[in-house]
Amino acid sequence: MSDLAKSLRDKLAGLAQITALPVISEHISTDGTVKWLFDVGAGNAVEAVYIPETDRGTLCISSQAGCAVGCRFCSTGHQGFSRNLETSEIIAQLWFAEHSLRKRLNSSERVISNVVMMGMGEPLQNYSALVPALKMMLDDHGYGLSRRRVTVSTSGVVPMIERLRDDCPVALAVSLHAPTDPLRDQLVPLNKKYPIAELLAACNHYLDKAPRDFITFEYCMLDGVNDTPEQARELVDLLRNKVACKINLIPFNPFPASGLKRSSNERVKAFAEILLNAGLVTTVRKTRGDDIDAACGQLAGEVQDRTQAHIRMVRAPVVVKGASPS
Ligand code: SF4
Repeated sequence: MSDLAKSLRDKLAGLAQITALPVISEHISTDGTVKWLFDVGAGNAVEAVYIPETDRGTLCISSQAGCAVGCRFCSTGHQGFSRNLETSEIIAQLWFAEHSLRKRLNSSERVISNVVMMGMGEPLQNYSALVPALKMMLDDHGYGLSRRRVTVSTSGVVPMIERLRDDCPVALAVSLHAPTDPLRDQLVPLNKKYPIAELLAACNHYLDKAPRDFITFEYCMLDGVNDTPEQARELVDLLRNKVACKINLIPFNPFPASGLKRSSNERVKAFAEILLNAGLVTTVRKTRGDDIDAACGQLAGEVQDRTQAHIRMVRAPVVVKGASPS
């Protein structure tokens, strides 16, 4: 930056460093999905995934190395929590991906149009680093992304949803995964602290300031656990006319330690039809990057296991009302 005074440059050199995150690996899927594994020091690694679509390019980035929430169906949750990422480490994933993709595609135009905070970690448990990173993504002097195209995905940290509403309202996605508290307690342990009724109240309050007029609810389809027609009807009762929303049904990506299985396509279709017939906007997420293990829930694959969380979770089968334990 030769347009800055030399004295200032010297001062900056002593105070700050400008470096990219070291890349451990890069995998490119046959469908164009790209996954990077970044080294964030002390044996920790985080992943970012680029998903190209005809009308947009979405980058999914991480907010923490590991995660403390411990969702049953999530391979990141199974490895436990290592540490929060710094703001610079969050934004560096976007910087690297954009530069790398422009180079590869020989493009001077922006490649990444959407960012989702849906990689490793619970973003709202790293709030103080998250919000400055979001502001950089939105700032015209930063990446200039629209609020509608930046999404924070949360497992339901209710007080932080309230704060995000005031500090930096971007699009919100909520990992719901169950229509009732007893089942959600088992799939998303944070539910014991912030049960569904509180979560939905926070979602409604968030909508006052949200850039989109709906909340996205993610629902990972687990065979024999949360995918029955009765549970679809319970979901209808829970959400219809209660929260403006879209429901995204996600095919589960099995990993050995989970003890869970992906719902069949027929079951997913039947579940979706009940929601659609009840007037709930519902989509089924296409699986992307399967050949490079890039799909959601597999982002932790190569990261060192730091805790015994995976053992604890394997020992606790999911108990479904009226069914034998899975
Ligand atoms: S789904 Fe999200 S919040 Fe739950 S364990 Fe995985 S990374 Fe953490």
